[in-house]
Amino acid sequence: MASQELINKLEETIENFPDFPIPGIQFKDISPIFLNPKLYEEVIADLTAFSKGKVDAVCGIESRGYLFGIAIAVALEVPFILIRKKGKLPPPIISEKYDLEYGSAEIETREGHIKKGQRILIHDDLLATGGTTEAAAKLVEKQGATVSQFSFLIGLKDLKGEEKLKKFGADVYSILEY
Ligand code: AMP
Repeated sequence: MASQELINKLEETIENFPDFPIPGIQFKDISPIFLNPKLYEEVIADLTAFSKGKVDAVCGIESRGYLFGIAIAVALEVPFILIRKKGKLPPPIISEKYDLEYGSAEIETREGHIKKGQRILIHDDLLATGGTTEAAAKLVEKQGATVSQFSFLIGLKDLKGEEKLKKFGADVYSILEY
């Protein structure tokens, strides 16, 4: 969906750091996008076009999912819901545990922010193994809403995150794929 021009600009802007924060990880740093407000606007326009008319609310995953997710929600004129790491939100909350390579993690939302029957876009900056996004989708379904779409700036194809998301039957979009 994104123009080749936008893809090229993002490829030039996003920086790759091999073996950060641990050996074997190719860390993608999206922060240079925010040095270029015009490019940021183009990213938001592209992600908004993907979701226009298709969702009733946007869920962003802490923390980099907020940087684009809120702007997408405002452009779509729909609510934005924060999916946070454990322990950051006051009760009552809904939570979902998921496995990491070593140990486990938990994400949470405020009870009542996601409404029954809503069509939800789940947004994050990057799809790696899909563990975090899968847990976010389960959190959405627990509240009687439907995950209609997932969007990312970057999808890391080799890690097969998209396969983990198939069971939700939602459209998946990454502007860039590596
Ligand atoms: P995962 O649950 O494996 O799909 O990981 C996704 C989350 O971890 C996203 O919120 C990303 O911000 C972060 N992440 C995972 N891998 C990378 C990477 N190679 N570069 C930058 N962020 C990453």
